[in-house]
Amino acid sequence: MNNELPSPFWKWQFASDNVAPMCPEAMEAMNQANADWSPSYGDDPWTQRAKQRIQDFFETDCSIYFVFSGSAANAMTLSHYCQPYHAVICSPTGHVVTDEASGPEFFIGGGKLIHVDGPHGKVDPEGIEPVFVRGHDIHSPKPRVLSVTQTTEMGGVYTPEELNRLGAIARRRDLVFHMDGARFFNAVEALGVAPRAITWEVGVDALSLGATKNGGPLCEAIVFFNQEGLEEMEWRRKMGGQLASKQRYLSAPFHALMQPQVWSRNARHANTCARQLVDGLAEIEGITLRFPVEANAVFIRMPEPLAQGLWDKGWHFYPFSEVDAYRLMCSWNTDTDAIQAFLADAQELAGRVC
Ligand SMILES: *Cc1c(COP(=O)(O)O)cnc(C)c1O
Repeated sequence: MNNELPSPFWKWQFASDNVAPMCPEAMEAMNQANADWSPSYGDDPWTQRAKQRIQDFFETDCSIYFVFSGSAANAMTLSHYCQPYHAVICSPTGHVVTDEASGPEFFIGGGKLIHVDGPHGKVDPEGIEPVFVRGHDIHSPKPRVLSVTQTTEMGGVYTPEELNRLGAIARRRDLVFHMDGARFFNAVEALGVAPRAITWEVGVDALSLGATKNGGPLCEAIVFFNQEGLEEMEWRRKMGGQLASKQRYLSAPFHALMQPQVWSRNARHANTCARQLVDGLAEIEGITLRFPVEANAVFIRMPEPLAQGLWDKGWHFYPFSEVDAYRLMCSWNTDTDAIQAFLADAQELAGRVC
């Protein structure tokens, strides 16, 4: 049966956007960077050019640090701002909470993640003030950072207005405003706004900018719009094992992805595929939508036998028990034939089990 499929992992493609390979431009940049000797530890021309493109993208001066993973970007950033007695306000479904094995707390050397829930994986602005009210002054951890995820882990997209409101609260409460942008490009594409309109213009101080899920190999950038106090950031990155000696292999593909026609094409394809997938799923008996689809993630509810049937047919996707749903992700190279095949299988199974 598997012999008929285009690849042994073809039915894995909805499992995550990181099952996708690198896009051709990123691969080509790797090859170019590999054509010659190069200064190491970031003193190479690729790193300089990639930083310039990121600055152009955000239309502002900013400090940029390339790292290997999104978890590292978050941990390095949060530990830069926090003392061990500090707290980070974030969603209970945030990657920093559920998927980083306490990396933020470890690098902070203590620290606490205070959960503020909200719809669609967002932090509800109304939930922030109570954190300050219920605290016991110096007896409680001191809130220091407000961290949001764009797009959220549940596939939600914060609008500029929502971020503006959160930014205003952060300013009023003297909180650093951090954004986990592992899927930032999907959000920009979904909103159709300038990247500055959802970052520094609404008060974001620091962004973990993800290229891996946009078609990169393994390259993420910490972008500091607020450049105060960064004198020792280089040491923090080095201590965290995140200073790449052959940094050109992070920055060259990043440089390639920062071309407007590349990042936007990749993000648009992922978002469009999620839309196609959900439109098809909506027609199938027994399947309901758990969250509105705003970017490249689809969250659905379905009877357990239907999910099991799809797994038995070889499809890979994950249950997200904390939100009582199954997640299907689309990526820059989701195969539209796979969408049709998945829908056909779901339709056929639903006829039997629903
Ligand atoms: C994928 C992801 C990251 C980064 O994960 P790594 O595996 O550490 O690269 C960070 N935040 C969110 C929301 C993600 O989805």
